Amino acid sequence: MRKLRQWTSLVVFALVAGIVQAAEEAHWSYAGETGPEHWGELSEAWSLCGQGTQQSPIDVGPAVPARLPPLDFDYRSWAESVVNNGHTVRFDVAPGSILHVGVNRYRLVQFHFHTPSEHRRWGMPAPGELHLVHKAQDGTLAVVGVWLVPGHWSGGTFSSLWGVLPGQEHRRFAVRALRIDPDDLLPTRRDYVYYRGSLTTPPCTEGVEWFVLTEPVEVPSGLLLRLSEIMGANARPVQPLNGRILLRSR
Ligand SMILES: [Zn+2]
Repeated sequence: MRKLRQWTSLVVFALVAGIVQAAEEAHWSYAGETGPEHWGELSEAWSLCGQGTQQSPIDVGPAVPARLPPLDFDYRSWAESVVNNGHTVRFDVAPGSILHVGVNRYRLVQFHFHTPSEHRRWGMPAPGELHLVHKAQDGTLAVVGVWLVPGHWSGGTFSSLWGVLPGQEHRRFAVRALRIDPDDLLPTRRDYVYYRGSLTTPPCTEGVEWFVLTEPVEVPSGLLLRLSEIMGANARPVQPLNGRILLRSR
């Protein structure tokens, strides 16, 4: 009996190892043969990257003014850890930070960076973009995109996270008491453009609620330089709208 149990756990271990390996087999990047134009061919599970019709990012141009609920950022927790996963620098967030949009409630799960920005402003990329990734109880993802531009900045959250950006890849670092203050991370005006899109990285899953803030936030230019030094250029090209209409809060 004991032997059987040992054997069983070996099989479980092998299975888990197999899954990890399979997940790692399809390598993707932002250039060349594993770049964005090929993501859809690199794995069957990533076909939406090539054939999806509601993909992100997009060029945020003309949008229809609409009566949209305000974004209510009730962030009360902190970042627990940071990892440079070879594609981006991601901070994972402790439970307790909520985004309310009308009757919908999403928990802030993680935030990460792109240099240059993925969403364009009337055709132009910004030097950087912050993605605040939230999840509803039913699994729906809501991502808030914030353009980052160099300029004045008053310290706070960006200053704290600048100090802990990891150059080393694939290692998770614990971060202590990195409070996430929406007043630091977000511009004063929280007007936004809403559309339905996707993850901007494989597997490019659709059904993501996107809220792109129309006003950028100013951060120190050194922070943008450091991020792009660590991550390289990690922006997926803009995707066709395919008839999607952008809505602008007013
Ligand atoms: Zn992102």
